[in-house]
Amino acid sequence: MIGLGIESTAHTFSCAIIKKTGKNGKILSDVRKIYRPPNGEGIHPREAARHHIENSSQVLSDCLDEAKINVNDLDLVSYAAGPGLGPCLRVGAVVARSLASYYKIPIYPVNHAIGHIELGKLLTGAKNPLVLLVSGGHTMLLAFLNKQWRVFGETLDITLGQLLDQFGRSMGFASPCGKNIETLANNSSNYIPLPYSVKGNDVSFSGLLSATKSIPSRNKEDACFSLQETAFAMVSEAVERALSFTRKKELLIVGGVAANKRLSEMLKEVCRRHSCKFFVSPQKYAGDCGSQICWTGLLENQNKKGVPLEDTFVTQSWRLDSVIINY
Ligand code: AMP
Ligand code: MG
Repeated sequence: MIGLGIESTAHTFSCAIIKKTGKNGKILSDVRKIYRPPNGEGIHPREAARHHIENSSQVLSDCLDEAKINVNDLDLVSYAAGPGLGPCLRVGAVVARSLASYYKIPIYPVNHAIGHIELGKLLTGAKNPLVLLVSGGHTMLLAFLNKQWRVFGETLDITLGQLLDQFGRSMGFASPCGKNIETLANNSSNYIPLPYSVKGNDVSFSGLLSATKSIPSRNKEDACFSLQETAFAMVSEAVERALSFTRKKELLIVGGVAANKRLSEMLKEVCRRHSCKFFVSPQKYAGDCGSQICWTGLLENQNKKGVPLEDTFVTQSWRLDSVIINY
């Protein structure tokens, strides 16, 4: 079974092709173009959508070339139907619908967050993990029970990715800027005390963002170091409590922030204390990409023959814990 997956929820337009044989998936190609707003600014949904429209046909043809397959070889197409920015989501949906109707192949709307988790499981081999999903759009702790992902904790305001991106933008970087912050943080070990806010299993980052922004700009590296230490310690506390509660023996980190080495270092220590196996998405596939959508579409195909074209919706706020999983 050969699938094409299309991701366009926010800054990334990506197409990927995966060949599924039994329970295994082999990524044949994963091509991406990332919209970069001007320095200091966030994503403008209309501009991001314009970027996706302008790049969609090139990304699709590069993806087919790299996989060395013809568009007629595709058995199905899937696209990220939400959550995400409406104008961006519509671009991926239009490309997917056009392919499905012209080539008469089944089409699958995929929940973007579930895509992160399923691809993480495929690439790491985690079987039944507690999942920490940390990205631009999510900060959630999840475990699977009775056909649904259940939320054990989440952010009460902004996400971990937004915290890093908004602080990075205040320093003049272009979003996404988690990587810039990680690089600056690596040059400091001087911790400046910052507000730490864990409420039960939930976290709150907005006070931390304001306090970090008030650190004088000559202390950039110390600010980045202290921001990472505080935010990641908060997340680690929530993970530790959820591990004790769920007694899961695996932890899997997915989402763009999973690329951060310091976050992994702290969570490995938590796992060691709980005799729990630690898994993290490979850096290349941690953030938004077509592979996450493609693989989830292929899984859905196991017992669903696509959805009618008239039901190929996009939903800006589609929570992953509302999705019933039948594969
Ligand atoms: P996603 O929405 O899954 O593509 O994730 C994007 C988020 O990941 C953005 O907020 C980025 O700033 C963040 N990110 C990417 N690389 C890193 C990194 N090395 N450290 C921390 N955050 C990162
Ligand atoms: Mg994402």
